[in-house]
Amino acid sequence: MEARHNIALLPPPGFLGHLIPFIELAKKLVFNHNCTITLIIPDYGDGSPVTLQSSLLQGIPAAITPVFLPPVSTADLPDDANPEILLQARLIRSLPALRDTLSRLRESGAPARALVVDLFAPDAIDVAREFGIPAYVFYVVAAIDALLSLTLPELNASCTFRNDKQAEPVKLPGSLTLEVKDFPDTFTDCRVHKCATDLREMYLSADAILINTFYELEPDTFRHLERRRHGIPPVVPVGPLIRSIEGSELDRSSAYLKWLDDQPRNSVLFVSFGSGGTLSVEQITELAVGLEISEQRFLWVVRSPQENAAAAYLKVGGRDPRDPMTFLPEGFLKRTQGRGLAVASWVSQIQVLSHDSTGGFLTHCGWNSILESTVHSVPLVAWPICFEQKLNATVVADGLKGAIRVRENEKGIVEREEISCAVKELMGGEEGIKIRNKVSQLKIAAENAIGKDGSSTKALAQIVQSWSTSK
Ligand code: UDP
Repeated sequence: MEARHNIALLPPPGFLGHLIPFIELAKKLVFNHNCTITLIIPDYGDGSPVTLQSSLLQGIPAAITPVFLPPVSTADLPDDANPEILLQARLIRSLPALRDTLSRLRESGAPARALVVDLFAPDAIDVAREFGIPAYVFYVVAAIDALLSLTLPELNASCTFRNDKQAEPVKLPGSLTLEVKDFPDTFTDCRVHKCATDLREMYLSADAILINTFYELEPDTFRHLERRRHGIPPVVPVGPLIRSIEGSELDRSSAYLKWLDDQPRNSVLFVSFGSGGTLSVEQITELAVGLEISEQRFLWVVRSPQENAAAAYLKVGGRDPRDPMTFLPEGFLKRTQGRGLAVASWVSQIQVLSHDSTGGFLTHCGWNSILESTVHSVPLVAWPICFEQKLNATVVADGLKGAIRVRENEKGIVEREEISCAVKELMGGEEGIKIRNKVSQLKIAAENAIGKDGSSTKALAQIVQSWSTSK
């Protein structure tokens, strides 16, 4: 069968939580719609080897061609610049190289038929317009986040939460309310607020916003979006698009997978804070003791401490030379031996979540982690640490009743007893059973959404169809 369209995708560099769903979207377009893909990857920024990014790209199908854009400098930005601002700067400075790439594709006889850009790169929509092609924002987080972004002026008019952490909670679609402290940083941190306002203006010019979610996961948000269509682009759920691992990528030899093989079914709590989330030294100790006194089995991905939870995000690739295990309390590994396993920095999360022995997931509530646990029917302890994760935790714990949420004390620490209680309840308590039932239902809804006639499958097909019918 001849390939129909070549589609250009522009993921952000470094943020694996964005690159992974971009690769999965690319695979859908290749396998279900016979497209070819040019995956245009901006420079990572600091010249370090991006080990994990490279390994993700190694297994991609031949119809997906990665193109790496040349380095750009962000040396003029402050050292402590917010990772989201840094990322956006890198993307904006890569636009001339994007333009060159699209020109080369046109000259080669395989022009891009559409451009799909990351939520931090809507500036690229203008470049798509120069080439006369449709442009889409691929929103790799929750639809509720997109709704809040798109309706930012209404939020600003209706409350004065930006600088006021004590302000009244904000009412979200459905029965949810969101504490001001649980808003994504882009809404409440004045240093990045301008960035959020600018992004919104650009989102409005997209042909559509594709979202990595499905209707049943966020029904109130989609009902609200249906009523609130005027003046915003169509918001289209195309998920859950989660990491799939096939063939040579599937590594069953890792020690932690073998260890999981030896554990009873549904007995192990997986503990991980995403591709770059980190804890402080004090928080690592509380978590270790909490796991120990919970007396539950666990598999913990331990990362070396940072005071800023988001500090490691643009440094993915293992540049931290410190051994994370040296930060665990003395004797912890010995005391928990057999019942618990700690692994440094990284595991194949999707293989852990799909393993029969995994019965719970203490997660930072990155959106991919939520989708992956939904698809594999793993109930959650929600422990958000930065970015939009508190919003995600609210959706999944308060909205869907699919998680037990742990809370920080006034010093910002989640204490050992809080952790232990939540873990015990999830793995063996009444609430844990209810949550397990809920996530089993969501798993079925997720499978339906991406099944042959599912809502997300049809929605993506309609977008692809529009490329054939429009000029
Ligand atoms: N991931 C993984 N192994 C790890 C940590 C993360 O495979 O040790 C993957 C995980 O499966 C998910 C992504 O990295 O696909 C993390 O995305 P998420 O949105 O959950 O969190 P983020 O890293 O963006 O905060």
